[in-house]
Amino acid sequence: MPDTLSSPLPGRVDVLAIAAHRDDVEQTCGGTLLVQQALGWSTGILDLTRGESGTRGTAAERAAEAETAADILRVAHREALDLPDGNVQNTLENRLKIAAVLRRLRPRAVILPYWQGRHPDHYTASTLGYEACFAAGLSRLDLAPEFGAPHRPYKILYASLYADVRPTFVVDITAHIETRLQSLLAYRSQYGAQSAGAGLFVPEEDIRERTFATARHYGLLAGVRYAEPFVQREVASVSDLMSLPVQSI
Ligand SMILES: [Zn+2]
Repeated sequence: MPDTLSSPLPGRVDVLAIAAHRDDVEQTCGGTLLVQQALGWSTGILDLTRGESGTRGTAAERAAEAETAADILRVAHREALDLPDGNVQNTLENRLKIAAVLRRLRPRAVILPYWQGRHPDHYTASTLGYEACFAAGLSRLDLAPEFGAPHRPYKILYASLYADVRPTFVVDITAHIETRLQSLLAYRSQYGAQSAGAGLFVPEEDIRERTFATARHYGLLAGVRYAEPFVQREVASVSDLMSLPVQSI
Protein backbone atom coordinates (compact mmCIF):
# COMPACT_ATOMS: atom_id res chain seq x y z
CA MET A 1 0.00 0.00 0.00
CA PRO A 2 1.21 3.51 -0.66
CA ASP A 3 2.63 5.39 2.26
CA THR A 4 0.10 8.21 2.11
CA LEU A 5 1.01 11.57 3.55
CA SER A 6 -0.83 14.84 3.99
CA SER A 7 -4.22 13.65 2.84
CA PRO A 8 -5.74 10.27 3.76
CA LEU A 9 -8.43 10.45 1.07
CA PRO A 10 -6.96 12.34 -1.83
CA GLY A 11 -9.10 13.84 -4.49
CA ARG A 12 -7.64 14.81 -7.79
CA VAL A 13 -4.67 17.15 -8.09
CA ASP A 14 -4.02 19.57 -10.94
CA VAL A 15 -0.21 19.35 -10.95
CA LEU A 16 1.62 16.19 -9.88
CA ALA A 17 5.40 16.07 -9.49
CA ILE A 18 6.88 12.56 -9.71
CA ALA A 19 10.45 11.92 -8.55
CA ALA A 20 12.69 9.05 -7.58
CA HIS A 21 13.66 10.17 -4.08
CA ARG A 22 12.21 12.13 -1.25
CA ASP A 23 13.75 15.62 -1.51
CA ASP A 24 14.18 15.47 -5.33
CA VAL A 25 11.04 17.58 -5.82
CA GLU A 26 12.21 20.02 -3.16
CA GLN A 27 15.48 20.44 -5.06
CA THR A 28 14.12 20.70 -8.59
CA CYS A 29 10.56 22.05 -8.73
CA GLY A 30 9.33 22.87 -5.22
CA GLY A 31 9.16 26.57 -6.03
CA THR A 32 7.00 25.85 -9.06
CA LEU A 33 4.57 23.83 -6.95
CA LEU A 34 4.32 26.83 -4.62
CA VAL A 35 3.65 29.11 -7.60
CA GLN A 36 0.88 26.83 -8.89
CA GLN A 37 -0.67 26.50 -5.43
CA ALA A 38 -0.69 30.29 -5.06
CA LEU A 39 -2.51 30.52 -8.40
CA GLY A 40 -5.24 28.29 -7.02
CA TRP A 41 -4.27 24.91 -8.46
CA SER A 42 -4.00 21.82 -6.30
CA THR A 43 -0.58 20.21 -6.26
CA GLY A 44 0.78 16.80 -5.31
CA ILE A 45 3.99 14.80 -5.05
CA LEU A 46 4.60 11.13 -5.81
CA ASP A 47 7.94 9.83 -4.53
CA LEU A 48 8.81 6.48 -6.10
CA THR A 49 11.09 5.29 -3.28
CA ARG A 50 11.24 5.73 0.48
CA GLY A 51 14.92 6.35 1.04
CA GLU A 52 15.80 3.13 2.82
CA SER A 53 19.31 3.06 1.31
CA GLY A 54 20.41 6.47 2.53
CA THR A 55 23.60 6.93 4.50
CA ARG A 56 21.74 8.94 7.09
CA GLY A 57 18.31 8.50 8.59
CA THR A 58 15.81 5.63 8.46
CA ALA A 59 12.93 5.40 5.99
CA ALA A 60 10.59 6.31 8.87
CA GLU A 61 12.57 9.47 9.63
CA ARG A 62 12.56 10.42 5.97
CA ALA A 63 8.78 9.82 5.81
CA ALA A 64 8.26 12.27 8.66
CA GLU A 65 10.60 14.77 7.02
CA ALA A 66 8.78 14.37 3.69
CA GLU A 67 5.48 15.12 5.41
CA THR A 68 6.93 18.27 6.98
CA ALA A 69 8.31 19.33 3.58
CA ALA A 70 4.92 18.66 1.96
CA ASP A 71 3.27 20.99 4.48
CA ILE A 72 5.87 23.68 3.74
CA LEU A 73 5.26 23.29 -0.01
CA ARG A 74 1.49 23.43 0.66
CA VAL A 75 0.78 20.38 -1.50
CA ALA A 76 -2.67 18.84 -1.23
CA HIS A 77 -1.31 15.31 -1.40
CA ARG A 78 1.93 13.40 -1.10
CA GLU A 79 2.57 9.69 -1.19
CA ALA A 80 5.47 7.31 -1.69
CA LEU A 81 5.58 4.04 -3.60
CA ASP A 82 7.80 1.18 -2.51
CA LEU A 83 10.28 0.94 -5.39
CA PRO A 84 13.76 0.01 -4.16
CA ASP A 85 15.91 3.04 -3.47
CA GLY A 86 18.96 2.88 -5.73
CA ASN A 87 17.36 0.34 -8.06
CA VAL A 88 14.42 2.04 -9.78
CA GLN A 89 13.56 -0.08 -12.81
CA ASN A 90 11.20 0.54 -15.71
CA THR A 91 9.07 -2.60 -15.39
CA LEU A 92 5.43 -3.34 -16.15
CA GLU A 93 4.78 -3.77 -12.42
CA ASN A 94 6.19 -0.32 -11.66
CA ARG A 95 4.35 1.31 -14.56
CA LEU A 96 1.10 -0.14 -13.20
CA LYS A 97 1.84 1.17 -9.70
CA ILE A 98 2.31 4.69 -11.04
CA ALA A 99 -0.62 4.41 -13.46
CA ALA A 100 -2.88 3.52 -10.53
CA VAL A 101 -1.86 6.73 -8.76
CA LEU A 102 -2.39 8.74 -11.96
CA ARG A 103 -5.90 7.34 -12.40
CA ARG A 104 -6.73 8.17 -8.79
CA LEU A 105 -5.25 11.69 -8.72
CA ARG A 106 -6.04 12.56 -12.38
CA PRO A 107 -3.48 15.36 -12.80
CA ARG A 108 -3.67 17.68 -15.81
CA ALA A 109 0.08 18.33 -15.66
CA VAL A 110 2.83 15.94 -14.56
CA ILE A 111 6.38 17.03 -13.76
CA LEU A 112 9.03 14.33 -14.27
CA PRO A 113 12.81 14.34 -13.80
CA TYR A 114 14.85 15.14 -16.91
CA TRP A 115 15.69 12.00 -18.92
CA GLN A 116 19.46 12.23 -18.65
CA GLY A 117 21.59 12.62 -15.56
CA ARG A 118 24.17 11.19 -13.22
CA HIS A 119 21.90 9.12 -10.99
CA PRO A 120 20.28 6.10 -12.69
CA ASP A 121 17.19 6.41 -10.46
CA HIS A 122 16.59 9.94 -11.82
CA TYR A 123 16.77 9.16 -15.52
CA THR A 124 14.99 5.85 -15.09
CA ALA A 125 12.18 7.61 -13.18
CA SER A 126 11.83 9.95 -16.17
CA THR A 127 11.19 7.18 -18.71
CA LEU A 128 9.23 5.10 -16.23
CA GLY A 129 7.02 8.09 -15.40
CA TYR A 130 6.43 8.93 -19.06
CA GLU A 131 5.47 5.37 -19.93
CA ALA A 132 3.21 5.20 -16.86
CA CYS A 133 1.45 8.39 -18.05
CA PHE A 134 0.89 6.72 -21.40
CA ALA A 135 -0.27 3.45 -19.85
CA ALA A 136 -2.70 5.22 -17.49
CA GLY A 137 -4.71 6.31 -20.51
CA LEU A 138 -5.10 2.85 -21.99
CA SER A 139 -8.61 1.45 -21.54
CA ARG A 140 -7.37 -2.14 -21.65
CA LEU A 141 -4.72 -1.69 -18.96
CA ASP A 142 -4.63 -4.49 -16.39
CA LEU A 143 -5.79 -2.36 -13.46
CA ALA A 144 -8.82 -2.97 -11.24
CA PRO A 145 -11.77 -0.55 -11.76
CA GLU A 146 -11.44 0.86 -8.23
CA PHE A 147 -8.29 2.68 -9.35
CA GLY A 148 -10.46 4.87 -11.56
CA ALA A 149 -11.17 5.40 -15.22
CA PRO A 150 -8.35 5.71 -17.77
CA HIS A 151 -6.61 9.04 -17.51
CA ARG A 152 -3.69 10.59 -19.33
CA PRO A 153 -2.22 13.93 -18.23
CA TYR A 154 -2.50 16.70 -20.81
CA LYS A 155 0.98 18.08 -20.15
CA ILE A 156 4.26 16.38 -19.28
CA LEU A 157 7.12 18.63 -18.21
CA TYR A 158 10.66 17.72 -17.27
CA ALA A 159 12.35 19.42 -14.31
CA SER A 160 15.88 19.92 -15.62
CA LEU A 161 17.66 21.57 -12.71
CA TYR A 162 19.89 18.51 -12.17
CA ALA A 163 20.75 18.36 -15.88
CA ASP A 164 23.19 20.45 -17.88
CA VAL A 165 20.71 21.37 -20.61
CA ARG A 166 19.18 24.58 -21.85
CA PRO A 167 15.62 24.82 -20.50
CA THR A 168 12.61 25.38 -22.75
CA PHE A 169 11.28 27.82 -20.15
CA VAL A 170 11.75 28.76 -16.52
CA VAL A 171 9.20 29.46 -13.80
CA ASP A 172 9.74 32.61 -11.76
CA ILE A 173 9.90 31.44 -8.13
CA THR A 174 11.22 34.69 -6.67
CA ALA A 175 8.29 35.04 -4.26
CA HIS A 176 8.81 31.49 -2.98
CA ILE A 177 12.57 30.93 -2.91
CA GLU A 178 12.87 31.08 0.87
CA THR A 179 9.93 28.71 1.39
CA ARG A 180 11.40 26.31 -1.14
CA LEU A 181 14.70 26.34 0.76
CA GLN A 182 12.88 25.63 4.02
CA SER A 183 11.19 22.60 2.42
CA LEU A 184 14.61 21.23 1.57
CA LEU A 185 15.97 21.92 5.04
CA ALA A 186 13.04 19.92 6.47
CA TYR A 187 15.16 16.86 5.64
CA ARG A 188 17.15 17.31 8.80
CA SER A 189 18.56 13.77 8.70
CA GLN A 190 20.14 14.68 5.35
CA TYR A 191 21.17 18.27 5.81
CA GLY A 192 21.58 18.82 9.53
CA ALA A 193 25.06 19.07 11.01
CA GLN A 194 25.95 15.44 11.81
CA SER A 195 29.07 13.38 11.90
CA ALA A 196 27.75 10.31 9.99
CA GLY A 197 28.71 10.60 6.34
CA ALA A 198 30.15 14.09 6.93
CA GLY A 199 32.25 13.84 3.78
CA LEU A 200 29.18 13.14 1.64
CA PHE A 201 26.82 15.76 3.00
CA VAL A 202 26.95 19.51 2.81
CA PRO A 203 26.06 21.78 5.72
CA GLU A 204 23.04 24.04 5.79
CA GLU A 205 24.90 27.20 4.71
CA ASP A 206 26.12 25.43 1.59
CA ILE A 207 22.59 24.23 0.80
CA ARG A 208 21.34 27.79 1.06
CA GLU A 209 24.08 29.18 -1.16
CA ARG A 210 23.68 26.42 -3.73
CA THR A 211 19.88 26.77 -3.82
CA PHE A 212 19.97 30.51 -4.29
CA ALA A 213 22.88 30.50 -6.77
CA THR A 214 21.24 27.87 -8.98
CA ALA A 215 17.88 29.63 -8.92
CA ARG A 216 19.61 32.95 -9.68
CA HIS A 217 21.40 31.39 -12.65
CA TYR A 218 18.14 30.21 -14.19
CA GLY A 219 16.44 33.48 -13.29
CA LEU A 220 19.11 35.44 -15.16
CA LEU A 221 18.40 33.44 -18.32
CA ALA A 222 14.90 34.93 -18.40
CA GLY A 223 15.28 38.30 -16.74
CA VAL A 224 13.77 37.38 -13.38
CA ARG A 225 15.48 37.00 -10.01
CA TYR A 226 15.03 33.33 -9.06
CA ALA A 227 13.66 30.58 -11.29
CA GLU A 228 13.41 26.83 -11.85
CA PRO A 229 14.14 25.33 -15.30
CA PHE A 230 11.94 22.98 -17.33
CA VAL A 231 12.12 21.20 -20.66
CA GLN A 232 9.11 20.25 -22.74
CA ARG A 233 9.48 17.94 -25.74
CA GLU A 234 6.71 19.48 -27.84
CA VAL A 235 6.94 22.83 -29.61
CA ALA A 236 4.95 25.65 -28.01
CA SER A 237 2.28 27.50 -29.97
CA VAL A 238 1.79 31.27 -29.70
CA SER A 239 -1.47 33.08 -30.46
CA ASP A 240 -0.23 36.67 -30.00
CA LEU A 241 3.37 37.83 -30.48
CA MET A 242 2.59 40.82 -28.27
CA SER A 243 2.04 38.56 -25.27
CA LEU A 244 5.43 36.83 -25.44
CA PRO A 245 7.33 37.33 -22.15
CA VAL A 246 11.09 37.93 -21.58
CA GLN A 247 12.83 40.87 -23.20
CA SER A 248 15.23 40.01 -26.05
CA ILE A 249 17.62 42.99 -25.99
ZN1 LIG B 1 17.39 11.90 -6.09
